[in-house]
Amino acid sequence: MKKVFLIFCFLFFIVFDLNVANAKIVVFNTKTLKYHNVYCKYAQKCTVNCIKLEQEKAIKRGGKACKVCGG
Ligand SMILES: [Zn+2]
Repeated sequence: MKKVFLIFCFLFFIVFDLNVANAKIVVFNTKTLKYHNVYCKYAQKCTVNCIKLEQEKAIKRGGKACKVCGG
């Protein structure tokens, strides 16, 4: 039974690691609460209110995807 638990933990960490590796970084505008693809022209224009963070975190902070780049 201990072995099963260890394998479960092992798999959990692999999945967790993959999630971290796949986290998409977006440019989040803290003023308009919109997040952009890093290549979006609006993201490149936005220098004062924007921060780079994971898409998931941007959504958790109330962010909405940009209509131009799709986030
Ligand atoms: Zn955009």
